[in-house]
Amino acid sequence: MTKLDQQKIRNFAIIAHIDHGKSTLADRLLEKTRTIEPRKMKKQVLDEMELERERGITIKLKAVRVTYKFSPSSKFRISDNKCKLENGKYVLNLIDTPGHVDFSYEVSRSLAACEGALLLVDASQGIQAQTVSNAYKAQDLGLKLIPVVNKVDLDYADPEEIAREMCEHFGFPENEVIFTSGKEGTGTREVLEAIISRIPAPSGDARAPLRALVFDSFYDEHQGVVANVRIVDGSVTNSEKEEQLHLMGSEQEFSPRAFGYFQPQMRPVESLQTGEVGYIATGLKDIKKVQVGDTVTNFKSETRNKKARGIEPLPGYKEPRSVVFAGLYPTRKGKFLELRDALGKLKLNDAALEYKPTSSLALGRGFEVGLLGLLHLDIVKERLEREYELDLIVTAPTVEYKVRTQEEEFTVKNASNLPDKYDEILEPWVVAEIITPYEYIGNVMKLIDEARGEFEKQKHIGEKRVKLVANIPLSEIVSQFYDTLKSASSGFASLEWAFAGFQPVDAGKLEILVNKEVIEPFSRIVISDKAYEIGRRIVKKLKEVLPRKQFSVPLQAAFKGRVIAREDLPAMRKDVTAKLYGGDQTRKDKLLKKQKKGKEKLAQIGSVSVPKDTFREILKD
Ligand code: GDP
Ligand code: MG
Repeated sequence: MTKLDQQKIRNFAIIAHIDHGKSTLADRLLEKTRTIEPRKMKKQVLDEMELERERGITIKLKAVRVTYKFSPSSKFRISDNKCKLENGKYVLNLIDTPGHVDFSYEVSRSLAACEGALLLVDASQGIQAQTVSNAYKAQDLGLKLIPVVNKVDLDYADPEEIAREMCEHFGFPENEVIFTSGKEGTGTREVLEAIISRIPAPSGDARAPLRALVFDSFYDEHQGVVANVRIVDGSVTNSEKEEQLHLMGSEQEFSPRAFGYFQPQMRPVESLQTGEVGYIATGLKDIKKVQVGDTVTNFKSETRNKKARGIEPLPGYKEPRSVVFAGLYPTRKGKFLELRDALGKLKLNDAALEYKPTSSLALGRGFEVGLLGLLHLDIVKERLEREYELDLIVTAPTVEYKVRTQEEEFTVKNASNLPDKYDEILEPWVVAEIITPYEYIGNVMKLIDEARGEFEKQKHIGEKRVKLVANIPLSEIVSQFYDTLKSASSGFASLEWAFAGFQPVDAGKLEILVNKEVIEPFSRIVISDKAYEIGRRIVKKLKEVLPRKQFSVPLQAAFKGRVIAREDLPAMRKDVTAKLYGGDQTRKDKLLKKQKKGKEKLAQIGSVSVPKDTFREILKD
């Protein structure tokens, strides 16, 4: 096999705000380069997961290699070409990334493996919060950005205006902007030519010892943990299969099973050279040993001492940080081990998922999980239920609080762990950046205020929009802020945020009691000002949704141990056949059977049966 010419490799990511068309443009690139046979082509082909396809979102990043024969079109602008360009075949490694704010850490991983990125903006939407944050991440890493205005086929879009906005905001020269329609295929060739002519070839040292950056990993039944890597220096070749490779961070040695790249299926090759993006099948069983951000080196026995060889590990990435925490419990007892195995399997491919066993008086054994946000929680829950046939109760998601007593300071991620006595509770705050069209400024300001936020400053973006910066408690952001922001701005405002430390808060534990018994999964930490309102709402809702019993049942809300709201569930036996006078016995039987089946869906919480859907309803608040 001929060796790949390093000068003919380009590594790039596609970054954009969610729904601006990354995956669709990736489809066009795969098509144009004939990476996928036309008959096998389907929409958003890189979104393989069932959930991704159903919801039309990208959850996992994908790396795929395409080759393109470069012979410049008449439209090609040579002016911005810095390196000597030869016609011929180029290898392009494309990394498609997720766009939702929950998954922004995935983006930073892929960027570190690239020299450039397409910065895509939807011509009908303009620059949004993740456009800005991803662009800055890429610029910080020194990537060459290619501005692309996408969806130019839309009648109501104003591509020229959006192009001006991009130039003004990010400082692109006007003639660098490319106009595309992922839907119709416009501009695909120009994009490919820009990638080749504007993004520099990888600059690693081919003669240096191997350094490969792990930017993702997943578990494969046959090959063990497979690391997605970018070969920064040196190379790996088949002869090394006999030898040991070494992960510098986890200090783990392994004998590689195979090397290769994705197209998008795994394609084994003889070697991976400097500058290439591909995979190394490690044969390891434990994904924790193959952490994102780690460096793979080769580990020849005579040079065991890596310091002596002067190999520096590559700078790692930002570690994902859990933002929301919730309890996951199987509805049926005895499913704990199954849940544990399922979580273990999910974790193999989701480095950001954290979990540890916990138990609750009411719910039995389960897990406390830490996640990147509510969408992430929703996805994990749904995958567990679908792919592993589990039926789960999820407790009210919460952020992490700090609690101070005279003696100590500790963190609380679960309302039931909040002690009765303490001196102070602190809650996490974030700096939020919201981009919105001018006409919605009033609405957004009001939202910030309602979320206990503090407005800091604003900056114009183009002629029609503005960026607002505010400090807001994280608990407000993760609960409803995002959805409310969307509806308050007809979907136009977008949000990006970063941690900004802890602040004291006047808060305490809100508990819900059914028949005088605390229903633990409903417990949550709330601020004092809102305790009454939330408590009232929950008991009212419970009254609506709980099945009645032969006796009346008190429903109460207590804040810091004091009852603050009460409703009574009146006694009544619900006879579903009562309204069926007349004698159709089969129909009666059917109904009774249906009622019985309904009962099976109840979750037993202490002495009270609560329908599973009720849990979901209540926890949504
Ligand atoms: P991603 O979230 O950035 O990966 O965006 P997707 O590629 O999933 O696209 C989001 C939505 O926009 C989908 O409904 C696409 O069909 C649509 N879309 C993508 N590109 C275009 C385009 O060029 N024109 C039009 N009209 N729609 C597009
Ligand atoms: Mg996508």
